[in-house]
Amino acid sequence: MTAKTASLQMRIGYGWDSHEFKAGVPLKIGGVDIEYPKGLGGHSDGDVLLHAITDALLGAVAAPDIGTLFSPFDPQWKGADSAVFLEEALRRARAAGYEISNVDSTLILAQPKIGPHAARIRENLCGLLGLAPEQIGIKAKTPEGMGTDNAAIAHAAVLLQKLRPSRQPGIPKKKTR
Ligand code: MG
Repeated sequence: MTAKTASLQMRIGYGWDSHEFKAGVPLKIGGVDIEYPKGLGGHSDGDVLLHAITDALLGAVAAPDIGTLFSPFDPQWKGADSAVFLEEALRRARAAGYEISNVDSTLILAQPKIGPHAARIRENLCGLLGLAPEQIGIKAKTPEGMGTDNAAIAHAAVLLQKLRPSRQPGIPKKKTR
């Protein structure tokens, strides 16, 4: 990290992803299993929301994107739990000296309705990201006039703030006399 970036108190990140619905695949959104006849296709578990948040975190610290770190052509990530990608992005953000201030997200899909599952998704994201519920926004919309009824789309924005010195990795807590 250069002297210029080391002084940044806040960093913003943005991520976007889409996956196509496919029969015979379990549906997972935000790390939560949702009962539905179709799931999201993809090399990993197709979790569109976790992928968008992962890219937002990686982008915030100018790290390589999700496809570069976890290639869809690498058999190692075939059917992978996308929580692994998110954990790596969070590790990189922390290693750069930042913690998450808040996350906001929007899902765009015709079906299934996200409302009944939003609380479970938020709870799961709280666990994965170490955040409180009021730090995570989850919004859902239907794709009116977009012709994307057979896909799920996710947008995510994250705001990072500099870790307080006592919480930075490798820096021992200052003793007070
Ligand atoms: Mg993806």
